[in-house]
Amino acid sequence: MKYLDVVITLLLSILLTIGVGYENRMMIAGGCLFLALIFLSSKWWLKWLFIFPTGLVAVLYFYSGYIYGQPNIGIVASLFETNKRETIEFLLAIPRNVQILNAILFVAFSYYLIRVKFVFKWHKTVCLFGFFCFCFSSLNLFIYHSYTSINHYVAQMNTLKNSIHQSANWHILKNKPRYKTYVLIIGESMRKDYMSSYGYPINSTPFLTTTPGILVNGYLSTASHTAVSLPRTLAISHGLDLHPANNIITLANVAKMKTIWLSNQGFIGQYDTAVSAIAVHASERKFLKKGNFLTNNTSDYALLPLFKQALAQPYNGSKLIVLHIMGSHENFCDRIKKDIYNFKDKDLSCYLSTYNQTDTIIKTIVNDLKATQDSYSLMYFSDHGLNNVSTIKGKTQLVHGDLYKQDYEVPLIEIASDIHQHTMLNKQISAFDFMSIFSNWIGVKTAQLPSLNVYQLPQNKKIQVLSGNQMVLFKSLKNDPDEIIHR
Ligand SMILES: [Zn+2]
Repeated sequence: MKYLDVVITLLLSILLTIGVGYENRMMIAGGCLFLALIFLSSKWWLKWLFIFPTGLVAVLYFYSGYIYGQPNIGIVASLFETNKRETIEFLLAIPRNVQILNAILFVAFSYYLIRVKFVFKWHKTVCLFGFFCFCFSSLNLFIYHSYTSINHYVAQMNTLKNSIHQSANWHILKNKPRYKTYVLIIGESMRKDYMSSYGYPINSTPFLTTTPGILVNGYLSTASHTAVSLPRTLAISHGLDLHPANNIITLANVAKMKTIWLSNQGFIGQYDTAVSAIAVHASERKFLKKGNFLTNNTSDYALLPLFKQALAQPYNGSKLIVLHIMGSHENFCDRIKKDIYNFKDKDLSCYLSTYNQTDTIIKTIVNDLKATQDSYSLMYFSDHGLNNVSTIKGKTQLVHGDLYKQDYEVPLIEIASDIHQHTMLNKQISAFDFMSIFSNWIGVKTAQLPSLNVYQLPQNKKIQVLSGNQMVLFKSLKNDPDEIIHR
């Protein structure tokens, strides 16, 4: 029987280590967990007061850990900001093998708690050694990373919430808008390398591939999750710090523009999500995601009539209309009306169809802008990329992640009434500089920011991104093992 107990404890250690996202540290973190579980099994109270609560949280985290890795501020934000519909979508999309592994983990954990008991002679020394091993175990790493991530997230949300009642301290030096209408489309989970406009062999973005415009090839998102990335893109930030009151909307407001925010992204409370804390400053706001979770999977197309209304509103000065779309958010098949590719690889097929949808939406908006006969400029970027975690050849499973370059390599495109050529600008630009680009775009100079367009921004080979809970050099990241360029 003891032999079986050892095998089950070993299996439990391996599954827990994988389930909290540390499979790359299996030998040390997993090995220490195994020793801790053995040495701490002699006393019931140790197991139930110590191993049970921490282990239970890890068992419940298994789906997230297996798919997205160890806890980070982005995962915490997603957990806190996910509505019921997104939770259901997430649970329905869990692959069968992950469900089976989670069931095995649950059985092994229960068996360990009820049946496993190793008694040693020098039990106090053994218990101390057990605690020592626990300190270096994957479970302890999990607790530590969960704690720091939640702390970061709570601090970020407090900063964002406080900013709602703060006024920005913009000091305007010059204000001369070039266009009558500015449109900013904030995309979702769109990797640059799956876009035909950036060289993907399938024509996934037909309009953007040929339209006159400036396409930045080398634009890097600040972070890998919406709630972490966008407050650092749309407001002043240099890394972990946030200055949300000084954001694109408050800047446009002091520049006397009319600001309209149209969103198809979810929110729990009135202004509870990271992005709505910026949107709240707009003079007009419309969020499509209301009502109960079964009816609120709204298509991005529903934003188009709202956009037309916003465009038609008479206004003497310039207007800024922001559209925050669901774009290519997981689960891809739920985002679209029709899978237009019908590949065997369903995930890829739906993912590319979301690209086509966003491309069509941008095209429709550009046509609406042209029809006004007024000058206009439209900017599109995506909040972050994704990476492929599928281990099955010919099957794609793209998810949020922060370990790969492709999690950050996203499009930045400008289309305007006075841009007549299709230009690819090969240059690494950080989304941390988006505020500079934005202020230049709307023709504003401030005391707080350099006002530079994508051509003027200095070349920076040391661009950092927020990965996990820290800033890391972008070039130190690995390529997604399934990087499609080489397919
Ligand atoms: Zn996102």
